[in-house]
Amino acid sequence: MRILITEDDAALGEALRFSLTQSGYAVDWVENGALADKALHDAVFDLLILDLGLPQLDGYDVLKRLRKHDGRIPVLILSGRESAGDKVHGLDLGADDYLVKPFSLDELQARVRALLRRGKGSGNPKISAANLSFDTVDRIASIGERTLDLSMHETAVLEALLKRLGKVVSKEHLVEQIYSYDRDVGYNAIEVYVHRLRKKIEGSGLSVRTLYGRGYALEPRASA
Ligand code: CA
Repeated sequence: MRILITEDDAALGEALRFSLTQSGYAVDWVENGALADKALHDAVFDLLILDLGLPQLDGYDVLKRLRKHDGRIPVLILSGRESAGDKVHGLDLGADDYLVKPFSLDELQARVRALLRRGKGSGNPKISAANLSFDTVDRIASIGERTLDLSMHETAVLEALLKRLGKVVSKEHLVEQIYSYDRDVGYNAIEVYVHRLRKKIEGSGLSVRTLYGRGYALEPRASA
C-alpha cells in the first residue's frame, strides 16, 4: 500500500511519514501542491493525505485536478480550517474524509485503515491462496490459524506477489511497492526479502519461483 502525504509543515509531515512507515506502508511525502500534482501523475498511490493550505497549488486545486483523472484513490484532507464550509467544500470536491488539526496519530491511523478498507471496494480486504491468507489493511499474513512473523518489507513483497498470483512480478515492481518512488534502491535487498519469505511461507502450499532476468512468481506447490 502506497500513501502520498502532502503537508508543508515539516514537523507534521515527518511525524506522519514516520508513523505510517512504521505501520508498514510505502510512504512518499511532498511539501507543496505542485509536487503532489506531479507525483499523482507519475505514480500510483492507494491513498492521498492532503493538507489544504499549501504553497504553489493549494489542497483544493490538487484535489480538483486529481478528480479529473482519478476518481478512485481515497483522499483524506488535513486542515486547520475548522469551519463547516471548508469541510463541505472539500467533500464536494471529492475528498473521502476530513481531519481537523490538531489530531492524534492514532486517530489518523484508524481513518487511514478505514479509507483503505473502503478503497478495496469489496469490503473484504483479505486475499487467500492455498493455506495462506493476507489482510491487506491490517497487514497480517497467516497460514491456517498461525500468524506469520514478517517484517514490513517481507509483507510488502508477499502482498505484491499475492496480488498477481501465478504471474511474473518484476524486481522493479517489487522495489516500487516497498520504497518511496523517488528513492534509489539496489535489487539485492529484494533477493534477501524473497529468500526470507520463502522460508516463512513453508507450509502454506505456495512457493516463490525465480524467473531469471524477469522476476518472481508465487505459485501453488505442485505436490502440495
Ligand atoms: Ca499547510
